[in-house]
Parts: sequence; structure tokens; C-alpha cells
Amino acid sequence: MSAKYIFVTGGVVSSLGKGLAAASIGCLLEARGLRVNMMKFDPYLNVDPGTMSPFQHGEVFVTDDGAETDLDLGHYERFTHAKLSRDNNLTTGRIYEQIITKERRGDYLGKTVQVIPHVTNEIKNAAKKVAATDNVDVVLVEIGGTVGDIESLPFLEAIRQMRQELGRDNTCFVHVTLVPWIAAAQELKTKPTQHSVKEMLSIGIQPDILLCRADRDVPQEMREKIAAFCNVEQAAVIIARDVPSIYEVPLNFAEQGVDELVMKYLRLDSKPADLSKWQDIVYRSYNPKDTVEIGIVGKYVEYEDSYKSLKESLVHGALAENLKLKVTWVEASGLEVEDYASQLSGFDGILVPGGFGKRGIEGMLNAIRYARENKVPYFGICLGMQTACIEYARNVAGLQNANSGEFDPATPYRIIYKLRELTGVEEMGGTMRLGAWECVMQPDSLAAKAYGTTKISERHRHRYEFNREFEKPLTDAGLRLTGASESGTYVEIVEIPDHPFFVGCQFHPEFKSKPLEPHPLFHAFVKASYANKKA
Ligand code: GLN
Repeated sequence: MSAKYIFVTGGVVSSLGKGLAAASIGCLLEARGLRVNMMKFDPYLNVDPGTMSPFQHGEVFVTDDGAETDLDLGHYERFTHAKLSRDNNLTTGRIYEQIITKERRGDYLGKTVQVIPHVTNEIKNAAKKVAATDNVDVVLVEIGGTVGDIESLPFLEAIRQMRQELGRDNTCFVHVTLVPWIAAAQELKTKPTQHSVKEMLSIGIQPDILLCRADRDVPQEMREKIAAFCNVEQAAVIIARDVPSIYEVPLNFAEQGVDELVMKYLRLDSKPADLSKWQDIVYRSYNPKDTVEIGIVGKYVEYEDSYKSLKESLVHGALAENLKLKVTWVEASGLEVEDYASQLSGFDGILVPGGFGKRGIEGMLNAIRYARENKVPYFGICLGMQTACIEYARNVAGLQNANSGEFDPATPYRIIYKLRELTGVEEMGGTMRLGAWECVMQPDSLAAKAYGTTKISERHRHRYEFNREFEKPLTDAGLRLTGASESGTYVEIVEIPDHPFFVGCQFHPEFKSKPLEPHPLFHAFVKASYANKKA
């Protein structure tokens, strides 16, 4: 049997949580024993989001094969077991890059290359390629953007054609819309949803299921009205209410029978969904034994989407300990003052996440110094590991003005320098050390104990590395280099031994944490932070 498709589109406004909705449906289908895969189409012209600012686009999610992708792929991996790679995130930029390469090679010789059929064919082929992997039963395809955008038209046209080609039993259209509360009128409004469906109809797509986002319950008459005006069955008007924990979304959908509907429309058969593990996660998130407070000191903190996976990984660690997580985002440059300590004293643990560029570095160094000196659990990720090394070099090993080549090329002590394999590489797109690489840890290290093994694979995204020329002065001063790449070339983990928890890693563990499988390092960090609170 070939895979069936569920297409998830969005209307009215962006940021309705299409990604989460798609991931939650995927989760429900998996809980029914089906094999799912997931993909995202992004209508922008960048080849991938790797070169976009996190302020523009949110986090760049990295897959095992080193693709820099949309953050929705993070949701897909957290909610399902879909194996994601660069094939699972396609942008308009990438499609055009492929088509223009083919055109120059002469593949279309004699023909005029056009949006229909050439662009739409590329889109359909990409979906079919994902459908052909690992015997999947269902592929969920999320279309980025909002219906009505010029940019997303070719994608919508492609999925319209897929319904035409594959038929009703093999394709299901889920449309996410908004039912806003108008404060002045004290009323919920269905008109935006009606307009959005009308917009879909004008390009030839009749949604099968409507996921209506609302901040409160939507009365039955209103659901009936939506069903009538939008031409869907009443049971297919699903109210996706705001919920405090995103892990409740699949349960909320299941209660309203979303999976039943999908199964019915796609003529699939399976056992009922077993959601006990998700119920347990949600129960725990509403019944914590206590709170743990983590300060995240970074550069993009005004915009939470920039650190999506990171925040979720901390939540997973906290849930594993039956704790409620409180995260305080600290703008790093705000710590570049005399009494930075006062801004940090309330935290049970401090984390410096990944980042690029010079702004805020001195503030991060202050935060790390504070955590090191006051024995506050510290977790440094990528940039947070590099800055931990710089802080140690300056304030413990006495290497004044030590720095990274990224921030101060003229530093006398270049503790962190550009990856040797990148010498001479000036191009910015996809040129970092990316994706899954193995790391070997010393058996007595904190990290190895947390993982319960000495060999792991983690995902990377960096352009700079620890400079081994400084291994001796730093280790003589007490820093431990406890993890390295398999060949020993790259330093992957650093630790300070006489400290309750001081771990820096060059990789990004946040890309592999799931609510049902919390990442060992995040779990250990949250545990240590809570122990610090209790002490
Ligand atoms: N800017 C640093 C580097 O390129 C850290 C990157 C990161 O934190 N992802 O190596």
C-alpha cells in the first residue's frame, strides 16, 4: 500500500500553531500503531533557514544529516518517531535552485520552464519521496505561510493536484484557522474562518477538517454555523483551545475525535490510540511537586521561538523530576555591568545557549563566572561551552583577554578558533560543522554518568572549535576536557570537577530531547539545579 497524505494549511493569521497541530495528529496516528512521516514546505526564497536571524525565523532546527531546517521539524520529532532529514523540509528557494540547475544542465531542453508544471512537479515529487521512505502509512505535510499569500500558491496548487491524482481516500485536508474573541463586542467571531475557507475554495481545495484556534470554548451553535458555512461535517469542526502545556494538544484532539475522522476519511483501520504516556506527561505537568528556576543568558532572549527546542528540553528534564520549570530569559548584554550578580542570584541553575556574533559575550562571561564561583549548576551549549572555556582561561588560568577568533581576532589567546576544516571558506550557507557526529567521553565524567554510556551521537552546528594549543594551560588550571570527537580532533565536552554541575558541550543536545525520552544532560542539569535550590 502506498502512503496516504494529510495536508495541513493555515488561514487568517500566522502563528496559529500549524506545526504543533500537524505534530499532534502525527502523534495520535502513531499511538494507533500507524507509521508516520512528516514534512514542511516553506514558501520563502532562502534555500534553508540557516542564514536567517533567529529573530526573523526562530530557531534553526538541525537534523542528523546536517540539514538546517524549520523549527516545526523540532515539534515533529518531539511528538513522533518520524526520521527527519533534509528531504523533510523544502523551501521555494531550494526548489528554484534545483530547477535552475537542471535548466542550465539542459534537462528541459526545448521547453519553457514554468511554475506549473515544473515547480509543482518538484513539490509533488518531494512529497512522494518522503512517502516512499520506511514503509510509512501516512505522511503529514505542513504548508508554511497563510492561505492568500502569493508565495504559497504553488504549494497549494501542488496539493490540489495531489488530491486530483490520488483521490479522496488518499488525501485529507486539514485547515487551521482562528475564531477570535472580539473584546468590544464580547463575542467570538466565525467570519475570519469563513473567509479563509472561501480563499481555499478559490484555489480548488475544500478542507475536510477545520482546526479552529480559540482562546476559550466555542459554543455548539457556533460550531454548527462554521460547519454549515464552510461545508464540513459538524464533527470535523475541531476547537483547538489554548492549553497551558503543548503536550495536551494531542489529548485535546483525541477527545474531539480528530484521529477517528482522519481514519474515516483516509479509509484506514487500526486499534484505538494508546495515549497513556501522554496522559502521564500532562498529569505531571499539572501536578508538580515543586518549582525549579533556570536563568537562560543569551542574545536572542526577547524572542522565545529562538530557543524553542532548548526550552522544551528543560521542560522534559523538569517533568522527569516532577518539577515545574520556570525559565527567566536574561538578555546577556544587560549583564555587562558592575553588579551583574544581583540579576543572577535567584536562579537554581544557569544556562548559556548557542549563538553567533559578539553582542552580549562579556555578559555571558559574567554569568558563567558567577555560576562557577558560586557553585550554581551551569550548562553551556555550543557558544555556552566556548564562553565557558574563555571565562576559565581569563579568570582561572590567568590568560588575560583570552577570547574566540569570532569575537576578537586580535586576542593574544585564541582559546576558540575557526574550525580548521573551514579555513578559507567564506560562504555562509550550510558551511558549518553540521549534523550528527560521535562523541567519546571519559568514563568518570559527569556527562558519561548522565548518559550511562561513553559513546554518543549528537547534533552540531558550529563554525568555531576549542583550540587544542590551550589544552595544557587550561587543564593544568583544572578544567577537564571530558568528551571528544571519535578521532580526538574536536573537544566536545568540558567540565569543572569541584563543582556540583558545570558542563559545556559543543553539540546541541536540545535537538534530541523528547517529552517521553528526556535528554540525559538536561535531566541531570535540572536535577542538579533542584538540588542546589534545596541546599
Ligand atoms: N558561534 C559559535 C560557532 O560558530 C557557536 C555556534 C552555536 O552556538 N551554535 O562555533
